[in-house]
Amino acid sequence: MAKQSYDAIVIGAGFGGAACAGLLAKHGLSVLLLDKNAKAGGKAMAFSKKGFTYTAWMVCSAPTDGNVLEAVLKELEMEDRVTLVAPGIQGSRFKNSKGEWPISPQDKTPDPNKIFDWLEVPEADRADALQVLADLTMMSPDEIAKLDDISFAEWLGRYKINKNLYSFLIGPVSDGCFMVPVDALAASEAVGTIQQVFLRGGGVFAHGGIGRVAETYADAVKENGGRVIMRCRVEKITVEDGKVTGVITSKGTFKAPIVVSNAGIQPTVLKLVGEQHFDQGYVNYVKGLLPSIAMVGVRYFTNKVVIKDVPYGTIFTPDTPMNMAKWMKAKTGAIPDEITVWYEVPSNYDPNAAPPGKQVIVTGIWAPCDPKRTKKDHQPWWDKVDEMMFKVFPDLPNAIEWKEGYSSRDVSNLTRDQVLPGIGGECIGLGQIVGQAGGRKPPTTAPIQGLFFVGCDAGGTGIGIQQATDSGVKVARMVERYHAMRQAII
Ligand SMILES: Cc1cc2nc3c(=O)[nH]c(=O)nc-3n(C[C@H](O)[C@H](O)[C@H](O)COP(=O)(O)OP(=O)(O)OC[C@H]3O[C@@H](n4cnc5c(N)ncnc54)[C@H](O)[C@@H]3O)c2cc1C
Repeated sequence: MAKQSYDAIVIGAGFGGAACAGLLAKHGLSVLLLDKNAKAGGKAMAFSKKGFTYTAWMVCSAPTDGNVLEAVLKELEMEDRVTLVAPGIQGSRFKNSKGEWPISPQDKTPDPNKIFDWLEVPEADRADALQVLADLTMMSPDEIAKLDDISFAEWLGRYKINKNLYSFLIGPVSDGCFMVPVDALAASEAVGTIQQVFLRGGGVFAHGGIGRVAETYADAVKENGGRVIMRCRVEKITVEDGKVTGVITSKGTFKAPIVVSNAGIQPTVLKLVGEQHFDQGYVNYVKGLLPSIAMVGVRYFTNKVVIKDVPYGTIFTPDTPMNMAKWMKAKTGAIPDEITVWYEVPSNYDPNAAPPGKQVIVTGIWAPCDPKRTKKDHQPWWDKVDEMMFKVFPDLPNAIEWKEGYSSRDVSNLTRDQVLPGIGGECIGLGQIVGQAGGRKPPTTAPIQGLFFVGCDAGGTGIGIQQATDSGVKVARMVERYHAMRQAII
């Protein structure tokens, strides 16, 4: 009979959960990893269909040097299992004053003057432009830590910034990395993370889809003596006398004195454990935490090569950067005429990602989080993606063999359950907003003995999967110490 008791149970094989479980198993704990999906990867799962392989939606990792995804693969001694690639080029398109969409400079080492030329930053504005870029890039960790309580918009407001440069810093960079309006985004998270990207590069992908990395972390659990059960939904985390005792799942009951949840703080507290096990103050705190904005988009499967060479890019204009006021209008139905679009072309970094001469292009734009939104609600957002993509890539409409829209409901189905109104289909997890970022991030420990949170909601910094994996590493270290102390004391 299969084992029913473990040192630690990890719920969820997203990047955070799978990295944490893999590391715990590698370091000698007996680990059970459970996920409701058929394979690991969560919000960045790899898919394949009719000869195409791709990530569920546009997922581009950064930084290139010192990427934590790779560091974990190395620690697991599995770096040869996944081919990580960083082509070093991208194809962002900026709408210039002539209404054209020139491509970003193609140099692997960015030259600010070429970027200013592309963005039509006049000579007179360039000294100020260099000043803001230099301050952003050179700020020390101590200075960054002082920026938890101001928004990135407030920090940028200290500078005189040319409008087109501002649209670049917000549109492709901050709006895409954090999925939070610039006037809510904590300046500490923004500066720290953007600094990493500027100094250490961006645009990391994996052959077969980035989800291959999380699948490999899950394999590490099995290969180090642990157990992985997929298609296994956790219904309840059991608690006795203020301590976790295990989980009840669709495939049986399992025991452990440590449970690490990658299912999201809100679903874990409000649904899997249940409010009755926490004091009201903590429940109110958890209910009040706010997620990032969602991303929805269209996957285009084409019968010819439409986008040459570049693995990814952003389409933006001087007017597309988001802020709270613009987002409120968009959310209630007034989608702006032009909106920032992110796109990825897997076959431009992985030769086997599409049948010869064909492409899959995955795209995304900001959209509301509510998983209850219907196809009809999403249609205008998908139409907006078409409109933007067709303007910039006029060959695309006639090359489409078929296309699929994905929604915040799809994101929620693949990842976290809806437990609060309007929330569940978010892109990242809890937003990196003022009050929830830097030193004010939600804790990785719950006020119940043996219960930990891992993933984008707690413990990590950086962009999306980087943040989730960073959390996986930090929570694994914390759990190992807790486990060792329990062994030493009890
Ligand atoms: C459209 C979109 C675009 C994105 N683009 C980027 C990008 O360009 N770059 C980037 O770095 N990041 C990007 N991200 C964000 C990134 O994918 C996420 O931040 C990251 O993958 C989250 O990882 P996580 O560990 O927090 O957990 P999640 O991915 O949320 O995984 C949670 C896991 O827990 C499982 N689970 C939940 N509840 C249960 C339960 N009750 N029982 C069993 N299992 C359960 C789920 O099935 C899932 O596998 C994007 C996300 C989306 C949605």
